[in-house]
Amino acid sequence: MPISVKVMSCIERSSWIRKMFEEGATLRNIHGEENVFDFTLGNPSTEPPKAFFRELLEAAQNPVPGMYRYMNNAGYEETRAAVAEVLSEVSPLPVESRHVIMTCGAGGALNVVLKTILNPGEEVIILAPYFVEYKFYVDNHGGVTREVWTNRETFQLDLAAIESAIGPNTRAIIINSPNNPTGVIYPREDLQTLGEIVERKANELQRVIYVISDEPYARIAYDDRKVPGIFSCVKNSVVVNSHSKDLALPGARIGYLAANPAMDNVGRFMEGAVFCNRVLGFVNAPALMQRLVARLQRESVDIEEYRQKRDLLYDNLTALGFRMVKPDGAFYLFPRSPFADDVEFVRLAQKHNILLVPGTGFGAPGYFRIAYCVDEAVIRRSLPAWEKLAEEAGILQPSVKEIGA
Ligand code: PLP
Repeated sequence: MPISVKVMSCIERSSWIRKMFEEGATLRNIHGEENVFDFTLGNPSTEPPKAFFRELLEAAQNPVPGMYRYMNNAGYEETRAAVAEVLSEVSPLPVESRHVIMTCGAGGALNVVLKTILNPGEEVIILAPYFVEYKFYVDNHGGVTREVWTNRETFQLDLAAIESAIGPNTRAIIINSPNNPTGVIYPREDLQTLGEIVERKANELQRVIYVISDEPYARIAYDDRKVPGIFSCVKNSVVVNSHSKDLALPGARIGYLAANPAMDNVGRFMEGAVFCNRVLGFVNAPALMQRLVARLQRESVDIEEYRQKRDLLYDNLTALGFRMVKPDGAFYLFPRSPFADDVEFVRLAQKHNILLVPGTGFGAPGYFRIAYCVDEAVIRRSLPAWEKLAEEAGILQPSVKEIGA
């Protein structure tokens, strides 16, 4: 076999989104671009904010001498200070540039953190439904994932289940709020209780247990909801973030990790993480992007546009009979599959040219994910197809049938 058995099996286990994407390409060839409704990828169709292009122009016209050379593996001081300033606003202790490392996206940051803290065989708790890459990232660094379900109705933290899953091998818990794929935001009280549980268990077990807060959607929150800062809730916490979603720059690979200034041995943690950023082969985050985002920490894409898309889909789909939690943030909906077999339902949706990802791809069979970071016109054009799908799946509400008749 030309590639390792392990990688081969990982490819097979993780192929849902890719499979759907490829089948979408086939459908587009047959039916035309306009008639296929692709809700599979969390790849924003929106462009970065104007301020991004302004800074890009400025960097091209007035380059800082030496700015494309190797640098401190943690990144530019100026950029880390800008990130630290914003994080300090929701942190009880001031975050300083020495607590921040610029990374190649949130994915890069997660790998750096996991490599820094994991000994072989140690466990990382992940909360279903989860971002599928967590399993691979943990495995990259010799760890083992332990899945704990969130509440199956609300997708909020099941704190009792987390507490009973923490054991002598637990090294970390990854949380993600606003959540991919459910869109929920965890309230402050729950994060505070999580902090208490982790501290109590860590004392009992005499080991450090980290909470890694993966927050690439933190600025995409609706209806005046605020994402609570993790540093005020959990002492041994690390924030992982990126500008893939809030500035619509997923291809630019720019993000960061930041350690809670109150963390035990924070200096040693940062030393380890800087080393890991280097030896994972990232070396440092892209120089040009670091220069730009240093001046964009208070910018974001138009969140109101995402809210309108959420409402358009949520209102129409619930009226058709689909059941789902109304998301507080991010740009995903995670409805219950009308069939027990979510893969079968996604196949039926494909017949109506609607492309979705089965919940199975997120460790959550019985649901499906809609990524609504697409143009509003795509959502509007898809609505008649959703109606036919609801009818064929046997869930169409009688009132809608009458309106349609
Ligand atoms: N974490 C979550 C929950 C995500 O949804 C994503 C991307 O979709 C990532 C991390 C990785 O983001 P990045 O592009 O910054 O590596």
